[in-house]
Amino acid sequence: MNNTSIFSKIIKENDLSKIIYKDKYVTSFHDIKQIAPIHILIVSNKLIKSINEINKSNKYILGHMIYVATILAKQFKIDKSGYRLIINCNKDGGQEIFHLHLHLLGGKKLGKMLS
Ligand code: 5GP
Repeated sequence: MNNTSIFSKIIKENDLSKIIYKDKYVTSFHDIKQIAPIHILIVSNKLIKSINEINKSNKYILGHMIYVATILAKQFKIDKSGYRLIINCNKDGGQEIFHLHLHLLGGKKLGKMLS
């Protein structure tokens, strides 16, 4: 596997018309293939290929990603109606892009996944 990704390219380009949120640790932008009215990706600035690469020294990023998701949920006014956060991992989890990211989904009633 190489050491870059399409998300690294987006982060590096820093096109402010596309970027919703950025700080030292994460960058957020709309998913290109929206599966809900609000479908935002919160991506680690550093290339971490999957959640399997989380370890003692980088685990802070997960809490930070979720924190940013709550900020964006408020900004996009889906905090009251509700939303879902998803991290896909590897083949069975349906991961397509090997660069750690959290999906923030909302703006409609989402189908049950666990039942
Ligand atoms: P995964 O399945 O890896 O959890 O999710 C990857 C997501 O990235 C998919 O929902 C896909 O639509 C989105 N995506 C793939 N390529 C691009 C791109 O070039 N730009 C944006 N904004 N999203 C992308």
